[in-house]
Amino acid sequence: MKRSILPLFTVFCVSVCLSWAKSASQPNLIIILTDDQGYADVGFNGSTDIPTPHIDRIANEGVRFTHGYVSFPVCGPSRAGLITGRYQGRFGYRNNPTLNPFDPVAGLPLEEENMAEVLGRVGYHSGIVGKWHLGTHPQFRPNVQGFDEFYGFVAGGHRYFPEDLVYQTIEEVDQKGGWYSTKLRRNEEVVETDEYLTDELSNEAVDFIARNHEKPFFLYVAYNAPHTPMQASQKYLDRFPHIDDKLRRTYAAMVSAVDDGVGRILAELETQNIDEDTLVFFLSDNGGAGNNGSSNLPLRGSKGGVYEGGMHVPFAFRWPGQVPAGVDYEQPVSSLDIMGTMAGLTRVRIAEDRPLDGVNLMPYLQGKEQGPPHEFLFWQMFSAREGAVRSGDDKLVLQSDETVTELYDLGRDLGETTDLAMTQQKKAARLRAAYDEWTSQLKPCPYDRLGTWDPAKPRE
Ligand code: CA
Repeated sequence: MKRSILPLFTVFCVSVCLSWAKSASQPNLIIILTDDQGYADVGFNGSTDIPTPHIDRIANEGVRFTHGYVSFPVCGPSRAGLITGRYQGRFGYRNNPTLNPFDPVAGLPLEEENMAEVLGRVGYHSGIVGKWHLGTHPQFRPNVQGFDEFYGFVAGGHRYFPEDLVYQTIEEVDQKGGWYSTKLRRNEEVVETDEYLTDELSNEAVDFIARNHEKPFFLYVAYNAPHTPMQASQKYLDRFPHIDDKLRRTYAAMVSAVDDGVGRILAELETQNIDEDTLVFFLSDNGGAGNNGSSNLPLRGSKGGVYEGGMHVPFAFRWPGQVPAGVDYEQPVSSLDIMGTMAGLTRVRIAEDRPLDGVNLMPYLQGKEQGPPHEFLFWQMFSAREGAVRSGDDKLVLQSDETVTELYDLGRDLGETTDLAMTQQKKAARLRAAYDEWTSQLKPCPYDRLGTWDPAKPRE
């Protein structure tokens, strides 16, 4: 059982206050994002068949969030929320966009400000390694949206073995699904690799740290593992002879490859003597998917839905000396709070007409602020028009075009088994009113959704 956060505050504050002046306003910032990893599939949430000792260090030497959420239960919109700190529906990013690189609408709107753009104003050098998925048209790519360095791919997933990467660019793709088989890019250059993709991304992340450790940096490590296609190298498969199910074994191997990469990233921080100057955020972009062998237990549901398994994810912060070590933070928090925390730490100005939904979690982690960071957290799905809102332990789930209402008490019933909507109608009405007010602020989605582009058809 981990300690809870409040009793540690007094002891912690003394050590924090002594060291605060050194690096508090411009720490290096690293987000490690996994893709479709299940809530249960990290050691720090109890996994026994897939050891993740390096990922666990982030939680064990920092804070584990027991109720950490992303803002949408699939990849693209979740990333749009993460990188802007705003509910992505506020700017219409309400679906996975088409991957059509000739489409100038399907991407993160240029007028929105992302982390790299904001941090650039206060001197940060920014890099993204891995999956972008925020628009494939050249006008949406990382290098024109604030990132000084980009190493990876622009689509929503990727094949893992180098011999599968047969297209020079996404513009060359001539069949559906081919967007998973483009060569990697370093900024605008096509690069060749002979490595298993997860290892390649880890190599690049470590190299970025080695090259940039003398200046404040922001590194966004967006692993596409363990998203489909399920492909693992023998080195990692050999670690899991105890898992008979082939899908689960491959998934475990893919997670283990990420874990090795996290270990190398953390080791590089020590090598460069910047361990105590670096805040590392770890989370998955949505819950475990139904098709990759993941587990969200004890949560109900999976990627793509608004039960907990869709968006309640493994979530932890680590910053030695600044974030308390080895404790749980139990109030609900959001991936939107990562941007809020970055903005709070660096005191960078945020545009008044685009206020953040995320908040700075540091005062909560340091015991300076009590109570929940959010009165409400909201989600709304795309075409099915499912939704959810959480306040305290109460969660309202809306199904079937928002006509069916379910109410759960997550404090007693994390698995969402007992619907209380009929017996606690007042609570349900309060949550519904807040949800309707929030959805009234969202913009329509302006772009075609994933899967609508058929590269085999001639362009109009
Ligand atoms: Ca995902």
